[in-house]
Amino acid sequence: VLDGKQPICECNSCYQGSDCSNFIPGCAANVDGYVPFLLVQHAASSAVVVAGWHRMSYKFNDHTFISQELERLIRKVHDIVGNAVTDNRFIVFGAGSTQILSAAVYALSADNASSPARVLTSNPYYPLYKMQTELFASVNFEYQGDTSLWKNSSDAGTNMIEFVTSPNNPDGQLNKAVLHGPYAKAIYDRAYYWPHFTPIPAPADEDVMMFTLSKLTGHAGSRFGWAVIKDEAVFQRMTKHIGVTSIGVSRDGQLRALKLLKVVLEREGKEIFEFGYETMKTRWEKLVKALSLSKRFSLQDIEPQFCTFFQKLRQLSPAYAWLKCEREEEKDCYAVHKAANIIGHEGSVFGAEDRYIRLSMIGTQDEYDLLIDRLNKLVSEEVGAK
Ligand code: PMP
Repeated sequence: VLDGKQPICECNSCYQGSDCSNFIPGCAANVDGYVPFLLVQHAASSAVVVAGWHRMSYKFNDHTFISQELERLIRKVHDIVGNAVTDNRFIVFGAGSTQILSAAVYALSADNASSPARVLTSNPYYPLYKMQTELFASVNFEYQGDTSLWKNSSDAGTNMIEFVTSPNNPDGQLNKAVLHGPYAKAIYDRAYYWPHFTPIPAPADEDVMMFTLSKLTGHAGSRFGWAVIKDEAVFQRMTKHIGVTSIGVSRDGQLRALKLLKVVLEREGKEIFEFGYETMKTRWEKLVKALSLSKRFSLQDIEPQFCTFFQKLRQLSPAYAWLKCEREEEKDCYAVHKAANIIGHEGSVFGAEDRYIRLSMIGTQDEYDLLIDRLNKLVSEEVGAK
């Protein structure tokens, strides 16, 4: 980090010293975060320098809040990756996909309905859907829990808005909507639908799909996400929501996204996705190996599938491990790991039992190595104790 004239080294949490090489003994392996790591090796070509007078106004020259060039690049990235249909679709930008989530809930609910649309999730689910919907609850929509409660609902006439996360956070499954029929609408969160995390069996073609730079290149701090929308009326309502809540998306953020997507598109995406896939696959293999002798812990089961991007059957490389504590008495898997100096995310955060814990596979290499060290220790204690 450059602070005035002094270069300051930003160390990972477990390291200190002027060159960040001193390990802090006993430091916890903190793998509860969402800190992806891609593009670290493209420091120069992905850099952005902005003159002080540049891009100062709310809008672009065409009086929109959206860079047309960035929109073109987004369509191109989806084309070469083959993960989403964008022809004859509208694109909306948001401050991360987080802003898009609430814009989509607003857009899919009606202003004059007799009862609020039910906003629903399927366990285990990404917790922000519930938190955000509850925060913004209105006469138009309300969070009403798990989809299973409403699957056979005879309460026809009330719209249901289902969040479908595919691949899912926390367990990496390629989920599909469970609610169908004239009152069921789905918001597909495709944040992790990129070749480094999952096979791409076919281009996604849902009515409302959301993507984010945070999981494509790892630039979560730039707060840039987008949605691909089929229906013009939904697109208009989402655009209105984003206009009213933040008068569009940071133009600095858009500029940064533009530069990053250009780097992604070098060699038709081969470099970044191959690097990302190899890194994630190696991490998963190490995790599986670390737990292979354990009867105490198990990992989620994900089916390997053919990936149209890599043109091969893909090995697993999910963004998160969804680990289960198998011993009857170990109902608090978070506490079990905390005692071993590993900090994850409790299952109950995702609407599941606390017998589960989510461990992030997308942190820095140091954090990840520390996780594997600590897990190796846990498993050798278990195996040795037999
Ligand atoms: N959806 C899912 C499933 C996520 O895991 C995340 C980030 N953890 C988001 C959306 C939000 O991403 P963004 O940074 O684009 O707001």
